[in-house]
Amino acid sequence: MSAETRVVTTEIGSLVGSRPRTIDTEVVIIGAGPYGLSAAAHLKAAGVDVRIFGKPMEFWTEKMPAGMLLRSPRIASSLSAPSPAHTLEAYEAEAGIPAKSPLPLETFVAYAQWFQRQFVPNLDQREVAAVQSVEGGFRTLLGDESSINSKRVIVATGIGPFQHIPKVFRSLPDSTVTHCYSGFDVDRYSGKEVIVIGAGQSALESAALLHEAGTKVELIARNSTLRWIGQHPWLHHLGPISSMLYSKHDVGPAGISRLVAAPNLVRNLPLSLRDKIRIRAVRPAGSNWLPARLKNVVIKTGRFVNMARPVGSRVELTLDDGSTSSTDHIILGTGYSVDISRYNFLTPEILERVQLIGGYPVLRSGFRSSLPGLHFIGATAARSFGPLLYFVTGAEFASLSLVSEIVKHQAIPR
Ligand SMILES: Cc1cc2nc3c(=O)[nH]c(=O)nc-3n(C[C@H](O)[C@H](O)[C@H](O)COP(=O)(O)OP(=O)(O)OC[C@H]3O[C@@H](n4cnc5c(N)ncnc54)[C@H](O)[C@@H]3O)c2cc1C
Repeated sequence: MSAETRVVTTEIGSLVGSRPRTIDTEVVIIGAGPYGLSAAAHLKAAGVDVRIFGKPMEFWTEKMPAGMLLRSPRIASSLSAPSPAHTLEAYEAEAGIPAKSPLPLETFVAYAQWFQRQFVPNLDQREVAAVQSVEGGFRTLLGDESSINSKRVIVATGIGPFQHIPKVFRSLPDSTVTHCYSGFDVDRYSGKEVIVIGAGQSALESAALLHEAGTKVELIARNSTLRWIGQHPWLHHLGPISSMLYSKHDVGPAGISRLVAAPNLVRNLPLSLRDKIRIRAVRPAGSNWLPARLKNVVIKTGRFVNMARPVGSRVELTLDDGSTSSTDHIILGTGYSVDISRYNFLTPEILERVQLIGGYPVLRSGFRSSLPGLHFIGATAARSFGPLLYFVTGAEFASLSLVSEIVKHQAIPR
């Protein structure tokens, strides 16, 4: 928690449990990424009074490397609008941009910012410092110490704080190791040596971008072989049979893809089965346009790092087979672990009242947590509703569910 957040939290600590003098708005949404923007657009169109906070698409503009291409297919890369005329294709046509596949990051960000201007022109870019539970709802505190009272809060703040850093790298100086999700400039490593760790899209695409920027790259992956998405393209060209195997969201392999597209069904499955589906649908793999870009990168599969130690300004790694490698920098594509206690704006008093399963909130229909009026959407909802919620394409289901919950159940059971 930042010093600034702590100060604000202490100052209003005495207000916890007190009645807010007024309800300023029905709903506060925290986060202006694909989920927050889509939810705000739908709720506004349904006549709900909404205030949304956050810098538009900050994760995509600040934490993704320039030159990145989206892994999700174009059909699954639109935000969810209350009208059909605000798709990615509509933006490209209006802006005179050619429709490319895979979709470049820059186009996706420009599209989402256009979406924001259309549907959420009154977006408040201030950061939320703390959320307090007060009688009748919530008090959201902003960095400038102003606050806003609402009946509901929707948390749509993404995966930024959830970076997974394996223990072996935790004691290295910050100057020698960077997680993919903290954003890095590939040109910074031109002419240097970098080791990338991981076998998922982030690791593989980072390795490709670094290599193309003139970095000497080595990739180390635990998996015995690298996996590539879309290895059986013919399965997508079988007409009605393909539709039975894959949903339009295209998350997960044949068959599982259909199940993943029914998040209300997934939520009612036993947790062990839900977890199996989730893990299978998002196991580490790279897009099928990456192997050609990686053909000149040294790749060591079936290996993991046992020890990492700084040597001067460099790092020496010892692998499980006893071999050593030395490098200027390490990039970790080691994924993330959802743990909502790492959202520093959620006070301990709120966290105590949210039922969790391994860091994820347990969610009911309408994305309701166990604290009435508090909702979570995006990746934090994936343990309840399945892996669709890890991707942009899940924003449609989340937004429609929220509208249904909030419009039909104006009174919040407490
Ligand atoms: C390398 C990489 C590649 C990916 N590629 C794809 C892809 O191709 N297709 C796909 O569907 N998904 C992809 N994903 C997953 C992607 O992160 C999610 O689909 C998407 O970003 C989820 O949107 P979101 O709105 O939940 O979160 P985010 O996009 O992370 O947005 C959260 C927003 O909340 C804001 N915020 C956080 N804290 C506060 C606060 N205290 N106050 C105010 N605002 C706050 C942030 O500024 C941010 O803008 C990728 C992820 C990574 C890491």
